[in-house]
Order: sequence, then structure tokens, then C-alpha cells
Amino acid sequence: MFDAIVIGGRCAGAATAMLLARKGHRVLMVDRSTFPSDVISTHFLWPHGTSYLNRWGLLDRVLATTPSYTELTLEHDGIPLTGGIPEELLRQYFQQLHGDDSGVVRRYCSVRRRVLDKHLVDAAGESGVEVREGFAVEELLTEGSRVVGIRGRTREGTRVEERARIVIGADGRNSFVARTLKLPRFDERLKCTFAYWGYFSGFDAGRAHLLRRGRMGAAIVPTNFGQNMTLVFGPSEWSEAFRRDIPGNFQRALDFVSPEFGERVRTQGQREERLYGTLDQAAFLRPLHGPGWVLVGDAGSFKDQCTATGMTHAFRDAELAASALDGWLSGRQPLDEALKHYEARRRSQSAAAYYDYVCTLAEMKPLRHDELQLFVSLRGNQEESNRFIATHADIAPVSEFFQASNLYLINDAAKESSRGHAIFENFESTSRQYLNNLFAA
Ligand SMILES: Cc1cc2nc3c(=O)[nH]c(=O)nc-3n(C[C@H](O)[C@H](O)[C@H](O)COP(=O)(O)OP(=O)(O)OC[C@H]3O[C@@H](n4cnc5c(N)ncnc54)[C@H](O)[C@@H]3O)c2cc1C
Repeated sequence: MFDAIVIGGRCAGAATAMLLARKGHRVLMVDRSTFPSDVISTHFLWPHGTSYLNRWGLLDRVLATTPSYTELTLEHDGIPLTGGIPEELLRQYFQQLHGDDSGVVRRYCSVRRRVLDKHLVDAAGESGVEVREGFAVEELLTEGSRVVGIRGRTREGTRVEERARIVIGADGRNSFVARTLKLPRFDERLKCTFAYWGYFSGFDAGRAHLLRRGRMGAAIVPTNFGQNMTLVFGPSEWSEAFRRDIPGNFQRALDFVSPEFGERVRTQGQREERLYGTLDQAAFLRPLHGPGWVLVGDAGSFKDQCTATGMTHAFRDAELAASALDGWLSGRQPLDEALKHYEARRRSQSAAAYYDYVCTLAEMKPLRHDELQLFVSLRGNQEESNRFIATHADIAPVSEFFQASNLYLINDAAKESSRGHAIFENFESTSRQYLNNLFAA
């Protein structure tokens, strides 16, 4: 009998299992994958993501083979904002969510999942977790309505049954646990992006560039093996046309969003692997806990990749869930109370506001005049640029940056006319053009 069984061994699962084992609990973690391996995901980590790794003593081993940097560039219709996340905002984030701001670092990185997830699985094993790779869970064992264990199959085909005081579903957006328990999805947002990405050597992007133009987006981010992860994304309703010529439209999208990076990729870039893609990223929330079970990571809530926060949110869930479950397993708190605490943090007002922010961005509407005006005004105002970047990454609350009085102060302080910027010339016709499907024949 284990204290906890964790189904899924990547960002959410391996971290939760590791943290529980470090508190002295007996943990089994199973994953049908074997490691190292990739998943359908790009892999940018904001500074709260790297800070979680640092808090767990894992950042050094990740950064030993992964480039990192302390600034990034966000660009909207050719208006660049370069900045970093202030340490003070990072500390506030960790204090408010976890009551402890140890390990904060201001670094960004983009670590291939085959690298990161292997480090996480190894760290779980080193912390005392019993790790079983290539193990597919096929049934949940129940007593009445309570989940009490799992039944699954090993790589060799042997059927195995294991029991635990709690079963943790860290099994991703198509969660087996959620499907088996027939958990409802709620607050679903069907409008989302399609995304295609590849790995290019031959040039040095220096730091992450996250770019938007019209209804398209792109990211060029240094990653492992001397390569740059290069991503394009757009509204899912354009995906069918995009897919008629994936390599050609990939380059076309890049040229459209960033003529500069389009040129670099075309003339210097060497594609090292095939292009990867995903068409559906519709967002949803699920209940987070019930009798004998808890969900962490994408299993409990999934949202579009357009702000690249899913992995960091999986780390956040791991710390919150492990801390709550430790309170119960150690006899300090009843289970219901502990899990309600977990749920309150995960479903706070600011978490709801951020979910809404991501889902609205994922509609990929062309940016409005006032939004672009804001980005013009932010240039030269480093403090507010940094705060915007922190807000976009879910480090500072959406409600604070976007409150009307703050936007007024930023615009007023800038007193910069929009007239000199190319995007504002013929704004009306440019915006109309942006609505046309870029990939239509
Ligand atoms: C296109 C795309 C780009 C993204 N880019 C970023 C980004 O740049 N930055 C970022 O932070 N996030 C990004 N994300 C989000 C990120 O991928 C997820 O939020 C993250 O992987 C969630 O981690 P997880 O551990 O919850 O689930 P997963 O990583 O999905 O892991 C779930 C694990 O559960 C295992 N499993 C499932 N069912 C079973 C079963 N029955 N038995 C045993 N094992 C099982 C699977 O094998 C898998 O290993 C992106 C997502 C997409 C789709």
C-alpha cells in the first residue's frame, strides 16, 4: 500500500511525486511513456518556471545543457518591448501562492521535453519515488465511490494492481483519470490556435522573441543542441488552409510575422527534424479533487499554448498539491480541508482572470488601435514594460496592470503620438487585410 500513486510522470506528475517523497511519503509514479521522450509541446519556461526548478535543486542540471537569459523581446505588429521580470514581482508571486520565496531566479530558458522530463523523472527516483516507466493504467480501483488504486499493464504485458491512500491524475489534457470518473469539463473555450514548430540550427537568436502580427504569432527561442525552436501559430479556423502546404506555409507565416526572422530562417537556418504541429487547443477546466483522487497540471485545466505557461502551471500545481497532501498524510489536516485549500489557490480570482486573458488572446483577433497604442507608450517605460511582461506570464495579476487608471497613467506619461509608427498609417485597411486568411489559395 502506497501513500500516493501518481499517474503521469512529466511536469506535473514527476514534480508532485518528487515533492511528496521528499516529505517522507511512500510514492509510486507510473507513466506509459519511457524516458527520455518528447510530448507534443514547445517548452519555453518563464522565470517562475525556472524558479520552481531552482527551488527543487534541479535548475543547475537543466542549465548545464540549456541556454538561458534574463531578458526577452515581445513584439506586437513590429513594436518591440524588451525586458525582464523584476525580482520583486517574482518574490511577491511565490510569497502569495506558496508563502515562501526561496530559490527565485530571473532566468528564462527553453528546454526540450526529452531533456527536462528525464531530469524530473530521475529526480523523482533519487528522492525515493518508485518509478515505473512503460506502465499504462487501464482501470481505477474503487471502493464505493472512493478511488483506492490502479490496475495497469507493464511494458512486458503483465497486469498489475496497486493501492494507495490517494491517486493523483497527472495524466495530461486527455486525462484517463478524468475520463474514467466521467468528470465534466466546464468554462470551455473552443476558439484556440493551431501551432507548428521546428528546430533550426545555423543562427543564434540570442534570447527569446515572442511575436504577434495581425492574426498570426511566432516564437524564436534558443534551445538545447545549438538549435532554435521556431514556432508559428494562428487561429484554428485557418489551419485547414495552412495544412495544404505545411513547410511552405510555415515559412510564409514566419515571413509575415517577422520579415527579419523569416529571412534568417530561410537563408541561414538548417531544419534538424520534421515540423511538429497541433490543431486543437480548446481550453477547459475540470473539478480538481474528489473521494480518493486529485488532478494536477493539464489534467485539471488545459489552455492554449499562446502564452507558454502550461509547464510552469504544472510546476505550480505540483507544489500546491504536494504541500496540501503532505498536510493530510502527516496528520496535520483533514483531507477535505487540505484539498479545498489546494483548489482555492488554483481557482482564485486572479487565476480565473488569467485563464480569461489567455483564452481571449487565443482567439487571435488583430490587435486593436488602443492595444497597439499601449505598446507604443510602453516603449521607454522599462518599469511598466517589465510589469506588462510579468502580467503576460501570470506572475503579476492581470487586474492590476490592466486597470483603467494604470493604462491612463502609462499613456499620459508617454505622451507619444502614434502617428510616427508604420502600423498606424492606413490602420483601417491594414486591420481589414489582417482578417483575410493568409493561407487561402
Ligand atoms: C503546441 C503546444 C505548445 C506548448 N508550449 C508550451 C511552452 O512553450 N511552455 C509551457 O510552459 N507550456 C507549453 N505547453 C503546455 C505544456 O505542454 C503542458 O501544459 C504540460 O505538458 C502539462 O504537463 P502535465 O505533466 O500536466 O501533462 P503531460 O506533459 O501531458 O504528461 C502527461 C503524462 O501522462 C502520461 N499518461 C497519460 N495517460 C496515462 C495512462 N493511462 N497511464 C500511464 N501514463 C499515462 C503520458 O504518457 C504523459 O507522459 C504547450 C502545449 C502545446 C500543446
